[in-house]
Amino acid sequence: MIYSSEAIVLESRDYGEADLIVTYLTKEFGILNLFAKSPRKIKSRFGSSLEPLTYSKISFIGREDKLQKIIQSDILYPFQKIRENYKIFFKLAEIIRFLLQYSSKREKNSELFNLMLSILREIEDSNKWENYTLFLKIRVLSLLGYLPDMKHCGACGKSLNGQSHYLKGFILCSSCFLKNNQEYKDNKEEGKYIMPERVINFLNSFLKWQLSHLERVKINEKLIDEVEVFIKKHISLTVKL
Ligand SMILES: [Zn+2]
Repeated sequence: MIYSSEAIVLESRDYGEADLIVTYLTKEFGILNLFAKSPRKIKSRFGSSLEPLTYSKISFIGREDKLQKIIQSDILYPFQKIRENYKIFFKLAEIIRFLLQYSSKREKNSELFNLMLSILREIEDSNKWENYTLFLKIRVLSLLGYLPDMKHCGACGKSLNGQSHYLKGFILCSSCFLKNNQEYKDNKEEGKYIMPERVINFLNSFLKWQLSHLERVKINEKLIDEVEVFIKKHISLTVKL
């Protein structure tokens, strides 16, 4: 049986002397590892279509429980400009690593595919790429279910108003934090910090933004740093690394 799908290359790694294993985010089949025969032998259009971030139409064969083989790959858009910009590529690589580590293989996720493709298209022609990579990161976390509830207290379920606190993967209202914090008071500071209210407010509204809005706004750098600190802390506490 021949399968085909639109796909974005997430990663490719050497296999043997001339072959490659290419990891794709496909529109129809989710994340897939596919085998590419001899693309490294000669410089070819087939070879260039396997570069990271390339958006292609691919066909592949083989049993689903085995490593399937790419038989055709036609570039729809190369995203070469992004690949050649070290800073953007580095940011995207971090998000892709997360995606590869924490999302299941062979699970169709059209929302994720469309998100990735639209963000790449926007970044290609924008000088606000930092807005887009931040948006992609937060949306990926949210789509994979890794963001905590930021509207309601993780313990009592009440709406979060005023100061909120982050404790062991959850966002708590002040009174629940005080109660739960007793249990941790002998522990070191690890896993808790005061969640700046503006980070919560920002994330709640950020997740609802249209892509066109990202082109128009300048996000305060200090706020971006605070969001990054929160994400880093949250991931390190809730996800087994
Ligand atoms: Zn509470």
